Amino acid sequence: MTPVVELAEVGKTYAGGVTALRGVTLAIERGELVGIVGPSGSGKSTMLNMIGTLDRPTAGTVRVDGHDVHTLSDRQVSALRGRVIGFVFQQFHLAAGVSAVDNVAEGLLYMGVSVGERRRRAAAALDRVGLAHRYAHRPHELSGGERQRVAIARAVVGEPALLLADEPTGNLDSQSGAEVLNLLRELRSAGTTVVIITHDRELAASLPRQVRMRDGEIVEVTRAG
Ligand code: ADP
Repeated sequence: MTPVVELAEVGKTYAGGVTALRGVTLAIERGELVGIVGPSGSGKSTMLNMIGTLDRPTAGTVRVDGHDVHTLSDRQVSALRGRVIGFVFQQFHLAAGVSAVDNVAEGLLYMGVSVGERRRRAAAALDRVGLAHRYAHRPHELSGGERQRVAIARAVVGEPALLLADEPTGNLDSQSGAEVLNLLRELRSAGTTVVIITHDRELAASLPRQVRMRDGEIVEVTRAG
């Protein structure tokens, strides 16, 4: 099977002249759990933008689900992203004043699914992340860990092949962070490819594969076990 993501000699130089990535080659296989780790300024966010098709490289090739992003229009890239990738961010990015179930249902908004079906699938996704008892709660009525689980439910409700998590435990206490990490492991066991971007070396060390970044380059790839 084709890897979910393939970066070949990817470079990114921003308009101001800063080169944030150089010669990055990396394949992420289906069903992997991978950490991309490095200090601030090492190029992790830029990697997230490349893998997540949120920005285009200035050199090299990005393939997602076998499609060369370079050959696609912006609209086709958006469609690919919507179909293949779910995103989770440090800041949760939930809509304020909107119930958990409707926040999750939003993850299906552009998939041509009826509102009833969106709600039904959103409820099932909340069950999956252990929040069956919190459907009607709004973000301010949830703990940080619960908010992140709602955000994860929203990211996976459309059953993307790839879940891309940017510092998913960065805003959480250690207990909630461990729970969120366990949830990501469970999703991976169920078949989703999970990529976690983090500056937390300890978190990264607990993952089966670590890609270490420095000054825009991959300096080390480690596999546990
Ligand atoms: P990290 O996520 O590891 O902190 P980034 O990918 O954000 O690293 O940044 C890598 C380098 O690229 C840094 O030197 C940063 O200042 C620069 N950079 C990031 N985004 C931009 C941008 N939009 N425009 C110009 N420079 C940027």
